[in-house]
Amino acid sequence: MDGKKDVFYMQKALRQAQIALKKNEVPVGAVIVNKDGQVIGRGYNKVEKLKCQTGHAEIIAIKKACKKLKDWRLEDCWIYVTLEPCLMCLGLIKLSRIKGLVFGSCSNEFGFGYKNIKVCNFYKKNLIIKQGLKEVESIKLLKNFFKKLRLNRKVKGEAEKTVLRKGRKEIVTKKS
Ligand SMILES: [Zn+2]
Repeated sequence: MDGKKDVFYMQKALRQAQIALKKNEVPVGAVIVNKDGQVIGRGYNKVEKLKCQTGHAEIIAIKKACKKLKDWRLEDCWIYVTLEPCLMCLGLIKLSRIKGLVFGSCSNEFGFGYKNIKVCNFYKKNLIIKQGLKEVESIKLLKNFFKKLRLNRKVKGEAEKTVLRKGRKEIVTKKS
């Protein structure tokens, strides 16, 4: 995989993250590419929709790729994720025998701990890991999401206040 190809596939992962953003999910996207350069699995974060933490973008993309290949072994495949995978997803990536992982920004809070390289080698097979591709775009999407979330809360808060005010008004009206 050369740099240009990596950028190409990461853009596809970012497109998935944008879909998540539109659906009010934390914007994380993933794609799986086989050795011929064909995208065999796509996924975006669906934790809110599925009401379950198994709705991570990587899990959805891996499930689709396995279904397509009719095999749980994703040898010679690469996964592109916009954000550093969590420990659960890294475990799945390794167990699925994926050859390489390319991810955008690090996640200090939820990531598997890329900066601690020892964690990366906890299974027999080594996984090639590249970090930092389209990092700015990935972070921008996340920032947009949290900004939107704060804004929604504010609007909701104001709506609640209005309802409360109306309620009070009604009580006052009834009394008089
Ligand atoms: Zn995960």
